[in-house]
Amino acid sequence: MSNQDTIFHKIIRKEIPADIVFEDDEVLAFRDIQPVSPTHILVIPKKTLPSLREASDEDTALLGRLLRTCSQIAKDLGLDADGYRVVVNAGEGAGQSVFQLHLHLLAGRSFSWPPG
Ligand code: 5GP
Repeated sequence: MSNQDTIFHKIIRKEIPADIVFEDDEVLAFRDIQPVSPTHILVIPKKTLPSLREASDEDTALLGRLLRTCSQIAKDLGLDADGYRVVVNAGEGAGQSVFQLHLHLLAGRSFSWPPG
């Protein structure tokens, strides 16, 4: 499996199942298979983009859409009142394990700072 064909690409192509909570032409959001909080949703671009490190100026609108998708899902799921955290791991050293850009939308418990 090359970096261009991750497990998330298989989810985008519907080759493997996922609990999808939002989808449009550019963005897909689905529940994490190993949640670290009561709500743990991954928001990803359909366009191949291995990590935030590879993002360029042409991705500016897409990055905005990803973040806006997080805030809309949070609103729809009633997460605004208690708050939520959005995390992007960029690179192995930061904890990234799947090399298709994804935003973690985490909620349902309290979070400490700084993160581990
Ligand atoms: P990373 O460590 O790259 O920031 O996050 C990758 C996330 O993808 C992890 O939280 C992991 O649990 C999740 N994940 C890995 N494989 C699958 C899968 O096949 N389905 C779903 N829904 N999530 C996955």
